[in-house]
Amino acid sequence: MARVFVITGPSGVGKGTLIRRLRETIPELRVSVSATTRPPRAGEEHGRDYWFLDDAEFDRRVGEGDFVEHAEYAGRKYGTLREELERHLGEGAPVVLEIEVQGARQVRETMPEAVQVFVVPPSFDALRERLESRGTDGADTIARRLEVSRVELESQHEFDHRLVNDDLDATARQLETLVREQLSSAGAV
Ligand code: ADP
Ligand code: 5GP
Repeated sequence: MARVFVITGPSGVGKGTLIRRLRETIPELRVSVSATTRPPRAGEEHGRDYWFLDDAEFDRRVGEGDFVEHAEYAGRKYGTLREELERHLGEGAPVVLEIEVQGARQVRETMPEAVQVFVVPPSFDALRERLESRGTDGADTIARRLEVSRVELESQHEFDHRLVNDDLDATARQLETLVREQLSSAGAV
């Protein structure tokens, strides 16, 4: 049953923006709040955008088996908390995970029924422009993320569903259609 949706792809490709759009059109979808060791950006809130943990706490929770998946990305740790995912699923709601590629691979192993979507940028230059125009990261961070992106883009063919996020409205509609189809086929099972 398709109750878990994984949205992955390089930083700056538009995952967060597409998920915000998706929640406007399919409000029953819940977004799992991840844990991370990176510092909050301006305007980010603990518990809403991320659970911001220090390294020791993150590692302790890894040891306790609290994560469905976790990975190191550009020098920081990120992970999906089991309790987040299970709370939403337990309430009967479909859940979206916005995670990087290594985490998506782990989910593919442990939850093969999850629907995975890789969001592809129209070009590498467009990706760079988006990271720059978002204005949340300094030049070093952007350079590091772009480096990781090259590797991530090579893995796009591992994913059943790929969406090129060129025109935002068109991509948002495609994603909505895909999710609705999967939700209705889940209901029919
Ligand atoms: P991610 O969550 O994948 O890191 P974001 O959703 O934060 O990416 O998007 C990165 C930047 O690109 C944001 O400033 C966003 O407004 C912009 N953006 C997203 N999708 C598009 C698009 N299709 N065309 C142009 N800009 C986009
Ligand atoms: P950012 O620092 O821009 O919020 O996120 C950096 C990267 O980490 C993005 O690709 C984002 O999708 C990913 N990410 C966010 N939460 C998680 C998570 O819980 N697990 C994994 N594996 N990646 C995550």
